[in-house]
Amino acid sequence: MEEMDLAGLTWSEETVTEISLPAGLPYVKPVVFNRPQESAVGADWLWWWLDLSSGVCFGMLVQAKRVKGGAGKWTVDVSHGGGVQRESLMAVADLFEVPAVYCVYMGGPSLREGMGCTHGGVVPCQGCTRMAITLMPALSLPLSRTKLQLFDLTVAEGVPLEDLGDTARPAGVVKDVNFRQLAEGSELRAFLTEEQRGPSEIAKQIFRSVSIRRANQKSAAVAERLQIVGEQVFLDLPGDRGHFGVPYFPHVLRGLRMNPPNYVRDLLAGMSVPSEVSEAVAGVVLIAM
Ligand SMILES: [Zn+2]
Repeated sequence: MEEMDLAGLTWSEETVTEISLPAGLPYVKPVVFNRPQESAVGADWLWWWLDLSSGVCFGMLVQAKRVKGGAGKWTVDVSHGGGVQRESLMAVADLFEVPAVYCVYMGGPSLREGMGCTHGGVVPCQGCTRMAITLMPALSLPLSRTKLQLFDLTVAEGVPLEDLGDTARPAGVVKDVNFRQLAEGSELRAFLTEEQRGPSEIAKQIFRSVSIRRANQKSAAVAERLQIVGEQVFLDLPGDRGHFGVPYFPHVLRGLRMNPPNYVRDLLAGMSVPSEVSEAVAGVVLIAM
């Protein structure tokens, strides 16, 4: 991104994705589906973080977005197609029972020149560098906000991709606005307060970002609990929607499972997957932890 910007050239999110993927080999295994050119399917990827010994895994549907604009006017735009693209992202996330996440390409120092360090350091600190690829839950980037605001939210609340697998940067204690409603001694309470590992920690970092967004909205309303039926780790969750439009606990934590879904098992075994999967997303990224 930086090389292109310095040369005055334009880069696209698809290209950055393709260049970034092999950097994770052999821990990251991308499976790209061949689709007809005229396919109307979005370029969304399913990412699955896998603990192959326990079976615990966390999935998310990821759509690449690039930051646009320049000095003081950086934007993140999720309104493509009048919001149809975002709607489709949320629908596919529902289909696969995972959270929707934007992978925001923030560019390098030249694109962000004049922004300053938001980490209490000096540009470019490690945080500034790691910000280049930042994950931001789609729930936290609504169409109702301006593109400038969405950029600011991403800077403040996004999770740098490099931090996700970094044991030196754990999510820590998540004091969610619904925390008091969680039963003492419950597994969900332990998840939010105790150290997590592997896919559970990834889920916690994504949840933490949404939880921070929720804390910035109006006060908590007592909502009914929701029961999930499936192989998810958490089956009984607060139903609070905040301003998100959907209950945010289930939206994120449905991605955390005791065992991988069948199509992920098929891919791990080197088998092909049903067309319902290969036609709905551009590919699957398997990340062994
Ligand atoms: Zn910094």
